[in-house]
Amino acid sequence: MRLSEFIYESSPIFLQNFFCGLEGRRIFQRRFSQNFFTIFEDIKERDKLPKDELESLQLKRMRGQLILAYENSDYYKTLFDRYMFDPYGFESFDSLRDLPILMKEQLQEDIEPFLNKKSAPMESVTVRTSGTTGAGLIFPETKECENEKWAVWWRYRTNLGINFDTWCANFGGKVIVPIKQTKPPYHRIIKPFRQVTFSMYHLGPDTVIEYVRVINEKKLEWIHGFPSTLAYMASLMLEQNLSFDHRIAWVTIGAESLLPHQKEIIRRAFGTAPKQHYGLSEPVANISECEYGSLHVDEDFAYVEFLPLEDDPNRCRIVGSSFANDALLFLRYCTNDIVTLPSKPKKCPCGRAGRIVEEIEGRRYDSIVQKDGSKIMILGHIFRDMVNIREVQVRQDKSGFVTFYIVRSKNYTQKDEELLRYEIEMRFKIDYDIEYVEKIEKTERGKLRLVVSELS
Ligand SMILES: [Zn+2]
Repeated sequence: MRLSEFIYESSPIFLQNFFCGLEGRRIFQRRFSQNFFTIFEDIKERDKLPKDELESLQLKRMRGQLILAYENSDYYKTLFDRYMFDPYGFESFDSLRDLPILMKEQLQEDIEPFLNKKSAPMESVTVRTSGTTGAGLIFPETKECENEKWAVWWRYRTNLGINFDTWCANFGGKVIVPIKQTKPPYHRIIKPFRQVTFSMYHLGPDTVIEYVRVINEKKLEWIHGFPSTLAYMASLMLEQNLSFDHRIAWVTIGAESLLPHQKEIIRRAFGTAPKQHYGLSEPVANISECEYGSLHVDEDFAYVEFLPLEDDPNRCRIVGSSFANDALLFLRYCTNDIVTLPSKPKKCPCGRAGRIVEEIEGRRYDSIVQKDGSKIMILGHIFRDMVNIREVQVRQDKSGFVTFYIVRSKNYTQKDEELLRYEIEMRFKIDYDIEYVEKIEKTERGKLRLVVSELS
């Protein structure tokens, strides 16, 4: 434990709230600087640009980044020369496809050659990604880029009607209430962010009532968090007949992809369906749900390619190039995240020109190996109607055999198990076990992984 963590944990709650406010203010001042609001205004303006103006904006921004990368980074200088790629004459995104895909592992191995040598360290912040399958990535990001990332996220929120003054009930992965604490309150207040941050680690059948009480008492209308945490809380509320005494206007989710059964449980318990948003620490792609429920690519923020999977062309991998990070250009960076595209192009009544995605599915590595050696994605789909499953994890340690770990809610019956078996047997060529457990271990950052494979 670090000294600062020790001091925090040993302090009385009012002091912990004070420290939260202090740390919150420090991050807040950087994230929401004057520059942020300038960028935010600009980004609001760009929201509904017509298609042709959007395209010329994309070309202009990409060209700027390519030139910067060519002139100031060793890797891109060598790469462009080898491929005879001319950044100054960049006129069409088709030419980008001649360049290779950039993998996270390349950056993890040695990030130095990728950096913009002329970028001043003072102008950058350090970003750490979590990475559920292994080591994360550490990279520099300009403050401008951080501002723009947050501005795009806030554009999505303000489009839904949330504003900068809206207080939020936040369920993140941070340990904000010491684990050894056994009595309420299970939340801390981060005033600068207008957040009541709840501890997901203390949430359980005996404590959920306290969480609901605080949200009611503070009349919080906006709930944000990991889908697995919100779905867990929702299922506890349904079981214990708990409800909010005011309308929850917004439920937004982050960090993990939202599974269909989670969406339904949350809608039933909170009275409002969660809105989705896809973004990642690397500023290479952003997708936001609009007020009409369509998932639009934020085309002004990054250049996003959808590359069909070889074994399943209906699904595409997200590959993105950043427009905003002068400290390090991500060019054709592979995210390992998968989306489904609509079978034919869709138009949305909102009028945004951004491409529409049917579904954000999740990670490529959410797959298992079947008896015949083939790989198949495990998707949230199969649990779509199973609202009595509180949590689920699929584990595989030998080829062709899988264990489904299930945390049941009180309403779970034999019928649910039959349905689960039916769905599994209908879809997969595997032998399997179902094991009922009290709880499922989360990752270090508190995320629930759908698939854990021990196969290399
Ligand atoms: Zn729309």
